Amino acid sequence: MTPILPPAMLGILGGGQLGRMFAIAARTLGYRVTVLDPDARAPAAAFADVHLCRAYDDRDALKTLADTCAAVTTEFENVNADSMRWLAQTIRVSPSADCVAIAQDRIAEKSWIRRAGLDTAPYLAIESVEELACDLSPWLPGILKTSRLGYDGKGQVRVDTPEAARAAYANLGGQACVLEKRLPLQREISVIVTRVSDALVNSFPVSENEHVDGILELSIVPARIGDALAARAREMAIRLAHELDYVGVLAVEFFVLDDDSLVINEIAPRPHNSGHYTLDACNTDQFQQQVRALCGLAPGRADLLTPVVMANLLGDRWKADGSAPYWAVLMDTPNAKLHLYGKDTARKGRKMGHFTVVGSDVDNLIEQTRALQETL
Ligand code: ADP
Ligand code: MG
Repeated sequence: MTPILPPAMLGILGGGQLGRMFAIAARTLGYRVTVLDPDARAPAAAFADVHLCRAYDDRDALKTLADTCAAVTTEFENVNADSMRWLAQTIRVSPSADCVAIAQDRIAEKSWIRRAGLDTAPYLAIESVEELACDLSPWLPGILKTSRLGYDGKGQVRVDTPEAARAAYANLGGQACVLEKRLPLQREISVIVTRVSDALVNSFPVSENEHVDGILELSIVPARIGDALAARAREMAIRLAHELDYVGVLAVEFFVLDDDSLVINEIAPRPHNSGHYTLDACNTDQFQQQVRALCGLAPGRADLLTPVVMANLLGDRWKADGSAPYWAVLMDTPNAKLHLYGKDTARKGRKMGHFTVVGSDVDNLIEQTRALQETL
């Protein structure tokens, strides 16, 4: 395809923090940006040339995108895939509606991962209550996860017995679910791939991710794993992107088991929280890659320039009266960098921002991160 060049207008479905960082990247490169998001205070709106404050399936808004943008992407997987299909009739859309539809459905996602010859945790797809009538012991102790609309650990219940699994399924309203065996994790890692075509593809260095209550807390890069394991994870992520004929930025979450085997947990059809480190520590960041892939340009170099630790700033750190944490120490630290998403209401578990620290050794950086968190 002919590359799309600045000052073309690029559209994005969703105006949260990922949309905001996409808009910053696009405008830095000289593109213009239209954001579709029904929230008048969407974080991306502040950086957009045009904010369409309408629903994601609003036909007039979609028509405006089709008429004014050269290409459209998304910042989240729960966007209406039909909206993307409709847009794709007239303009370039990446990732494809089909890939988004796969990533938004755990059952489809896991079968695609296996189709690529890659491992998932043992799981049972449950599309109706009859599927729970069998012997459930192969998947217990397990986690029952809704097939759709789960994020940050929401829509998940830990279950230890067949009775608990059946009760949890009923509690979730009988919607499609997967029952997944709980695996002993040595650690969690992720890889972010940028793919434009078979030939134009690369991956960022592996991030090691620590979660608290199902929400990402820290990303550590380089991950504290051997080179061979890191190379294997990057190959697997790229293999999956090829299998999906994926165009855009694809995040792949892995579990590392005790014997160093790798299973894929889930994928996200977009930049990922665990890739925010790339903003401060790589040649090209994940949002610039999203712009490049959307525009049909070769992925930029994805080399790591420095070890880095990224820490999320959740609403939990804001005071009861809504006032922000004390930023002075963090702001006054030369190797630290604060990123705030411009959200005015803090809620427990809400991602308000993140910070990174860069240096020569990740163990020291983890310690420094913990000390900085204490000052907030
Ligand atoms: P979400 O879509 O909310 O990110 P995930 O499926 O990634 O949901 O689960 C969130 C976290 O829960 C994972 O990062 C991991 O820490 C834990 N977890 C999920 N599935 C398993 C599993 N099969 N075994 C062990 N831990 C798991
Ligand atoms: Mg996850």
